[in-house]
Amino acid sequence: AFDVLVVGGGPAGAAAAIYAARKGIRTGIAAERFGGQVLDTMAIENFISVPYTEGPKLAAALEQHVKEYDVDVMNLQRASRLVPAGEDGLVEIQLENGASLKSRTVVLSTGARWRQMGVPGEDQYRNKGVAYCPHCDGPLYKGKRVAVVGGGNSGVEAAIDLAGIVSHVTLIEFDSQLRADEVLQRKLRSLPNVTVLVSAQTTEVLGDGQRVNGLVYKDRLGGDIHRVELEGIFVQIGLLPNTEWLKGTLDLSPRGEIVIDERGQTSLPGVFAAGDATTVPYKQIVIAMGAGSTAALSAFDHLIRTSAP
Ligand code: FAD
Repeated sequence: AFDVLVVGGGPAGAAAAIYAARKGIRTGIAAERFGGQVLDTMAIENFISVPYTEGPKLAAALEQHVKEYDVDVMNLQRASRLVPAGEDGLVEIQLENGASLKSRTVVLSTGARWRQMGVPGEDQYRNKGVAYCPHCDGPLYKGKRVAVVGGGNSGVEAAIDLAGIVSHVTLIEFDSQLRADEVLQRKLRSLPNVTVLVSAQTTEVLGDGQRVNGLVYKDRLGGDIHRVELEGIFVQIGLLPNTEWLKGTLDLSPRGEIVIDERGQTSLPGVFAAGDATTVPYKQIVIAMGAGSTAALSAFDHLIRTSAP
């Protein structure tokens, strides 16, 4: 059995594995795709102390750093079930391939994925004008025209944030009204360079073959089709935590995020969690790394308190 088994190989999982291994305890990491969301990212300009890097480069560095240590790396392994510790004090992680891993503590770091619009052009222009993270990519659109798709809290926050950087923001909401908190809506409406469209269904992302140059939406009331000229589209229609497989085994928030305290402790003894899969506010690489380190240190603390004398 492992002392610490990390499930998920993004920034949070890599940090957890390194922190655990540095304690000289038996550490394993199982990941469906080592690198996580970082693999889908291009320019990264907020990885503090590294002014510029790219996703695939950072993902490779994460894996290389983990492999500096005696960590059992199990890549391309998807966890399908967690069985809480019984009498033997071991938590079991069952894998989709039928295998099962046992560990005295587990760190869950399965991350999240952005909900996509599912319209023509979205895949083709991802990272070429279609973006999902305003904190990450906002400054790349300085002085340009962008749209934000989604009028919930994250969409309206993104529009307010971007309005301070870009020349113009068009906020596009499918429903007949915005769903964001009133205080955010008020702030949004006070901004001179924001246009809000409701009852508008985004139907296509347009581009010149290299980059985005427009967006098509349908007026859901009149049925008319409109085109907006722009350089960027921020999709803000939800961040889905990869926690479906944990439903019913530990506490999840209404959004499906693993509920943790400030030490990364979940509702199950010996089970910790970190990163985008959790209730941590703000989903970012440096935040996930810090959280993964916290969870591993908490797992170590749990081990020294529960080990047989
Ligand atoms: P993830 O990176 O999502 O990793 C999750 C890991 O768990 C993966 O290895 C995955 O394969 C694995 N996994 C999932 N389910 C299972 C399962 N059932 N069993 C086993 N393994 C599983 N942040 C920044 O700070 N700066 C940026 O510039 C930036 N740009 C971004 C651009 C894009 C396009 C995207 C999508 C995100 C960007 N982010 C950026 C956000 C950042 O990537 C995330 O906050 C960060 O990767 C979260 O780390 P994580 O380890 O919690 O999860």
